[in-house]
Amino acid sequence: MSVVDLDAGLLQAVDRLAAVPSLLIALDFDGTISPVVDSPEAARALPEAADALRRLAALPGTRVALVSGRSLESLERVSDAAADTLLVGSHGVEVRLDGAAELTLTPEERQRADELREALEQAADPFDDVWVEVKPAGSALHTRRATDDVRERAERAASAAAERFAGLTTRRGKNVLEFAVRSETKGQGVERLREVTGADAVLFAGDDVTDEDAFRVLGETDLGLKVGEGDTAAAYRVDDPQSVARVLERLADRRAALNS
Ligand SMILES: [Mg+2]
Repeated sequence: MSVVDLDAGLLQAVDRLAAVPSLLIALDFDGTISPVVDSPEAARALPEAADALRRLAALPGTRVALVSGRSLESLERVSDAAADTLLVGSHGVEVRLDGAAELTLTPEERQRADELREALEQAADPFDDVWVEVKPAGSALHTRRATDDVRERAERAASAAAERFAGLTTRRGKNVLEFAVRSETKGQGVERLREVTGADAVLFAGDDVTDEDAFRVLGETDLGLKVGEGDTAAAYRVDDPQSVARVLERLADRRAALNS
C-alpha cells in the first residue's frame, strides 16, 4: 500500500491505546474501512484494514466491532466479518453480540416501518437515479447517483411523505436521508459495546454525520478518529480509509509487540 504519513499526535495516541489491558476497536464501515462505491452491495473493507483487524482480534483483551447504519444483514454480507466480530446495525437498533442477533422492534413499530416504506417508495417513484433502501427500523432514500436538482426534489418529496408519521427520527448522511421509527444512535451502540466488553478504552472511527453521536460518548482514555472533512467532535482526523488502515496496522503492530 502507499505510505501515508500519520500525524505525530495521532501516533502517540495510538501507542497509548495499544497498551491498555482491555481494548475495544469499534469502527464505522462505509467510508471508514471501505472506500465509498456507487453500489452499496459492492462495498468491501480494504484488505489492509481487514488484515489488521484479524490480527487485533486474535490478541488477548482485544475486541473488534463494526458500528454501521446498514441493516445487520447487509453489514454481515459486505463486511465478511469474522464470527467473533461484534456488530451493531441500523445505528444501534440491531446488534450481533457473540453470535446471537437481536432486534428489539415491537409489532407496532414494525407496522409503522412498513407503512413508512410504502410512503417513501411512492414519493421516490417519479425520480430517476434515487432508490429506497428498506431498513429494519425504517427506510432510507439514496441519492448518490442523482443530479443535485433531482436530489433536492426527491428529498423534499420524501420529507413531505414522512411528515404524515409522527415521531420519526430523521438522519441525514452523505446522499442519504433516513427515517426511522426508533431513535437509537451510534453513541448508544458504542456505549452498549463498551458495557458488553468491559473495555478500558475504545477506538472509534467514522466518516459521516451520524458517527458524531459516537464521538460524543468517548472519554479521555478513548480515541476518536474522524475520516475526511467536516465538523467533528473527534480528537483526531485522517483523510481516507487508507489512512484508517495505517492506524489499524500500527495499533496491531504495537499491541502484538506488547503481548509477545
Ligand atoms: Mg460511513
